[in-house]
Amino acid sequence: MGRLAKRDYYEVLGVPRNATEAEIKKAFRTLARKYHPDANKDDPNAAEKFKEINEAYQTLSDPEKRARYDQFGHAAEQMGGMGGNPFEGFGGFGQGDFGGFGDIFEMFFGGGRQRTARGPVRGADLEYELELTLEEAAFGCTKELRVPRTEDCDTCGGSGARPGTNPVTCPRCKGTGQIQVTQNTVFGRFVNVSTCDRCRGEGKIIESPCPACHGRGRVQKTKRVEVRVPGGVDTGQRLRMPGYGEAGERGGAPGDLYIVMRVRPDRRFRREGDDLYSEAEISFIQAALGTEIEVQTLDGPEVIRVPEGTQPGDTIRLKGKGVKRLRGSGRGDQHVVIRVKTPGRLSERERALLMELAALRGERVSGMAEHKEKGFFEKMKDALGGR
Ligand SMILES: [Zn+2]
Ligand SMILES: [Zn+2]
Repeated sequence: MGRLAKRDYYEVLGVPRNATEAEIKKAFRTLARKYHPDANKDDPNAAEKFKEINEAYQTLSDPEKRARYDQFGHAAEQMGGMGGNPFEGFGGFGQGDFGGFGDIFEMFFGGGRQRTARGPVRGADLEYELELTLEEAAFGCTKELRVPRTEDCDTCGGSGARPGTNPVTCPRCKGTGQIQVTQNTVFGRFVNVSTCDRCRGEGKIIESPCPACHGRGRVQKTKRVEVRVPGGVDTGQRLRMPGYGEAGERGGAPGDLYIVMRVRPDRRFRREGDDLYSEAEISFIQAALGTEIEVQTLDGPEVIRVPEGTQPGDTIRLKGKGVKRLRGSGRGDQHVVIRVKTPGRLSERERALLMELAALRGERVSGMAEHKEKGFFEKMKDALGGR
């Protein structure tokens, strides 16, 4: 039966070559009902006829197959791209010597006919370093960032095609993004599948590229992003802004934006967690007698009391004058470390007063001891036999 010349499909369905899809469908239904094997159990030719009608309909109802059939006739089926015959199970239909094996090999080698082009791709994540002053980090702030990132092109809406035109289905792969290379061998038909080199697997090509993005569909833009930085952040901490990363491809979701904090070093304060450390200098007399001094805090200058008898390195704690706690409520403390300065150049009067103080406390000091201890040194010299 495979040797028999195949009838023209239009002839089989009894429709003109310019028949519409609806006309073809209608003709098929009428004939299929008439020649259905179940309804013609005693007519041996009915099954054959039914298969013929089906085959004709499979080709003419598919615009792509129909176009190939119109161009190449039945030879189109032997070119490999025609597709399987759903009625293969009934026996060979004369699609060439290896027609029956071909579809089996295609199944094994994954040479599916309707592979979809590559799917959506999520946009890349972005990282942005945000520099903050200590105050901004301590209390929180709102910052406007200018983040360079790729976005869909406004001019073409991301299609990459010149406005007024559309990307067209790749003629090389018919939109599948893949190319099948069929080899007929004595073992059967082998199908190799590779990414289409014309459209690089996209399935579509742009004939007239968008002038703004040169067909990429995406452009580099500087996006203004307003970010609320919570109080208490510190260097190295990251803030995630979902969806503010790079635009996705082919309908994929955008990536995320990660804002990495960098708190600028401050000359006034050293930070340790939520606490701040600062230094204040007083004289040894102030340290001894106690005093009141003005220190800098994040909230401005503040007067603090230094108790008498303060030692160098002592700290005075200012409760709640530190950095806002990122987790939890309230603020850390500020610790004022006291430095004690010794006066360098003394007037005669100052020297005399200090000498008096030293004498009072029985402390040995350089100036006053000179004449008082002269006798002692003289005696030493005498004892050692000096001149
Ligand atoms: Zn564009
Ligand atoms: Zn292609």
